[in-house]
Amino acid sequence: MKIVFLGKPQSGKGTQSHFLSERLKVPHISTGDILREEVKRKSPTGNRLKHILEKGELVQDSLILSIVKKRLTAKGFILDGFPRTIGQAEALEKIQPVDLVIDIYCPDATIITRAAARRVCPTCGRIYGIDLPPKKPGVCDRCGQKLVRRPDDRKETVRHRLRVYQKQTAPLVKFYRHKGVYVRIDGTRPIPVVHKEILRKIETVK
Ligand code: AMP
Repeated sequence: MKIVFLGKPQSGKGTQSHFLSERLKVPHISTGDILREEVKRKSPTGNRLKHILEKGELVQDSLILSIVKKRLTAKGFILDGFPRTIGQAEALEKIQPVDLVIDIYCPDATIITRAAARRVCPTCGRIYGIDLPPKKPGVCDRCGQKLVRRPDDRKETVRHRLRVYQKQTAPLVKFYRHKGVYVRIDGTRPIPVVHKEILRKIETVK
């Protein structure tokens, strides 16, 4: 199956697409994760990307497209964080039209509260939040490292990312509705409840 997850930052699309990828045995492609890896490597491209990501701006379509294209498999995929603009969605339609677009909806206030609570382990990458706090505050359960905050989780950056989402990504709702592949799910509920509903939606298109 070819699935796209839509949703504001912190809507839970990363968590849900990870679960779904394990369940359906198709690759999970998170453009945000791929870009953060590039930044970590400190390559020339990574150094340019660092500033864009920290400001919460979008990376140019051509770069994102070249990253995504080589990872799309005929067997299917779960895209998380792509497409984010109409240009990207149109390009994807030409390469591989999608079967289902799952929009995990959350109001802005929920997103802001979640971002304030999110912490990441700088060593293993494990993510903690309101739904999944570490056993000992501020310390990774797995490797004992001190947890950090992602730079783009700062309040002002989150607000900016929400504005960018509204302007550049929200128009995709109409685009995919028109194609008849769009479903919306209430993302404010607990992770397992959202997961179950996603599975139900998938059954309807199989
Ligand atoms: P995410 O982890 O999906 O929230 O992505 C983190 C950041 O990576 C975003 O704020 C953008 O700067 C960049 N990014 C990820 N996916 C895309 C995309 N499809 N188009 C442009 N920029 C992206």
